[in-house]
Amino acid sequence: MSVSQLARAIATSPTMKLNEEARLLRERGEPVIHLGIGEPKNKAPIPAILGAAAKLQTGDIKYSPSDGTPTLKKAIIRYTEENYDRIVAPENVIISSGAKQCIFNLLYAILNPQDEVIILAPYWVSYPEMVKMVYGVPVIVKPEDGTFYPRMSEIERAVSSYTKAVIVNSPNNPSGVVFPDEFIAQIVEFCERKNIYCIMDDIYHKLVFDGRRTPSCFQFTKKDPENTKVIAINGIAKLYGMTGFRIGWTVAPRELVEVMTNIQGQTTSCASVLLQAAAEGALLGIQSIVENLRLHCQNNRDIVMAELATLPGVKCTKPQGTFYCLPDFRAYLHPAIAKNSNELADFLLKKARVVTVPGAEFGFEGHLRISYAGGVKDLQEGIARIKWAIDPSSPNDIFIGDRKLLRDWL
Ligand code: PMP
Repeated sequence: MSVSQLARAIATSPTMKLNEEARLLRERGEPVIHLGIGEPKNKAPIPAILGAAAKLQTGDIKYSPSDGTPTLKKAIIRYTEENYDRIVAPENVIISSGAKQCIFNLLYAILNPQDEVIILAPYWVSYPEMVKMVYGVPVIVKPEDGTFYPRMSEIERAVSSYTKAVIVNSPNNPSGVVFPDEFIAQIVEFCERKNIYCIMDDIYHKLVFDGRRTPSCFQFTKKDPENTKVIAINGIAKLYGMTGFRIGWTVAPRELVEVMTNIQGQTTSCASVLLQAAAEGALLGIQSIVENLRLHCQNNRDIVMAELATLPGVKCTKPQGTFYCLPDFRAYLHPAIAKNSNELADFLLKKARVVTVPGAEFGFEGHLRISYAGGVKDLQEGIARIKWAIDPSSPNDIFIGDRKLLRDWL
């Protein structure tokens, strides 16, 4: 079939692909444990359901303005004031169908062909592909010291006359690290000095642990909302575990919001009014769900760290937020198991029926991303199965579902 060169160059979303593989295996009755998935298991918050239901009952389900309903914008303005200590106008906000669409529209709005975007590794899988989709060039900065914390000197070295933006995601998917406040301050100052956009993907900003607080990216800019280069992306997917509702938003100077609104108006027209009503319900409703989710993730973080510590040779930086960690499995990359993280993830799915995501997809070969968004039982059993599959010092039989399996490859 004839497709464009650009379309051919875009990789499948590995997480979406893994979800599909896991679904097919489960349909065949296989006892799959999904430690790859990036979504909590909670039900949608009641105020969100009531918000959408009330809208549905009116029967008046039409287009909304391209940049979003005025009432959801109002709720987002309030959220921005409460959480970012920044008062913005409705013209500074655009609502899209998920943070994913926000980032895509933003990149489409700011990049000329061949413009470069600096992406810090480990990175969310979609950033490089989205940059390529608008004919830009992703420039990956991977910390040379092997940590998940890039240095400003490394970012400075990656800047060229084509650099248009840096994408910062803290708390970070896939590593779970939270960048220090000084780093955020430095990168904001650096971007504004160089006149490049600082795209803050803040989708996990409330999922932080151990009493930490993520800083407001706006606190480090001395410029007003119309002149700043700092752009904040947020959404309800991770904040309330409302991944399926597909609502995200961008806070940016109004000139940029206008361009993004044109892009959205010519593509998807607007986000669904029903789902905007749900988002409004969630934002204005009781917020205990956010704290419950945060505590659930923090508790699971402690469990995953304790379980991984029982795997000899596996090193894992302790996450300070999100529901992911990115342990280093290089000690287990050998001929009896796998050559790289892609093969290792495949091996674990085949032998142990556990889904993980290969680190290579996030620019960190030799690692696996493990999600601890789900239940404690799955987390413990999942890591026990991984241990059985790769660690020769573990007992060589295990029950997976109702089948007793013997390990005969180590
Ligand atoms: N940014 C990051 C870092 C993410 O992990 C995700 C979702 N996995 C998104 C953006 C997209 O969020 P949404 O579901 O709102 O499109």
